[in-house]
Amino acid sequence: MNDRFSLTGRNAIITGSTRGIGLAMAKGFLEAGAAVTICSRKQEGVDQALTELKEHGDRVFGKTVHVGKRDSLEELLAASRERFGTVHIVVNNAGTNVYSGPIIDSPDSAWDKTMEVNLKGPYLLSKLAAKQMVDGGSIINVSSIAGLIALDQQGIYSISKAALLMLTKTMARELGRQKIRVNAICPGLIKTKLSEAIWADPKVEKHVTSQKALGRIGETDELTGAAIYLASDASSFTTGAVLQVDGGMVI
Ligand code: NAP
Repeated sequence: MNDRFSLTGRNAIITGSTRGIGLAMAKGFLEAGAAVTICSRKQEGVDQALTELKEHGDRVFGKTVHVGKRDSLEELLAASRERFGTVHIVVNNAGTNVYSGPIIDSPDSAWDKTMEVNLKGPYLLSKLAAKQMVDGGSIINVSSIAGLIALDQQGIYSISKAALLMLTKTMARELGRQKIRVNAICPGLIKTKLSEAIWADPKVEKHVTSQKALGRIGETDELTGAAIYLASDASSFTTGAVLQVDGGMVI
């Protein structure tokens, strides 16, 4: 691997990394040499993921967190710092999609929950972590193609992911002189628990894959290369960028 893609000596926190896209990124970051703090709400999920990653020994650490809660994020950052030292890379990957349907019929709670996890979480963790990143760093926000176009029945999710893109651009502008780069990845449909309602229904799956230039759903490890690029020196002149990794869906 080209040295500029190496993450050796870097400490990364990846939220929502006990399954799906986040777990695949954790594996990729560990293989690229980083020390990685994985986290999600459930201890059982953290334990399972740590077992899956055990070949990486003491370069991986796990903790429970709720990304919508400041106290919980502060505890996560402190625990990660105690274990590995200052954080260099944050991937705001944890996300949720609790409601499918028109906005006018949505319960207020769907708005609150979606914004708490998809938007307030990255807002809180990014600002807390940026204060630690005195030698620079990389923040990566996992948005969605739903943040680029108004997806049918996914209005609240789309709004949260579009706002996350503006958080990315705004923080990139504000933090650039501190050598902190802030970028976003917009995945298309990837086979995970979050998207199960889509890929498990053959009719819906056919409809979605027909819109993709590559004509198929993505696998979790197909976002990892983009994340390593944005986390590493390979992207040293890239900030405020939005990288679509969607199999050619929104083109
Ligand atoms: P997933 O398989 O459902 O995994 C989500 C992860 O986030 C889990 O580890 C989950 O663990 C954790 N999590 C959920 N709520 C949390 C919270 N409040 N605090 C901390 N951790 C939390 O989802 P995924 O598909 O990999 O999604 C990852 C990201 O990609 C999300 O931001 C999603 O919006 C985005 N995305 C996914 C797709 C897709 O097709 N899959 C497409 C575009 C964008 P616990 O439940 O134990 O907390």
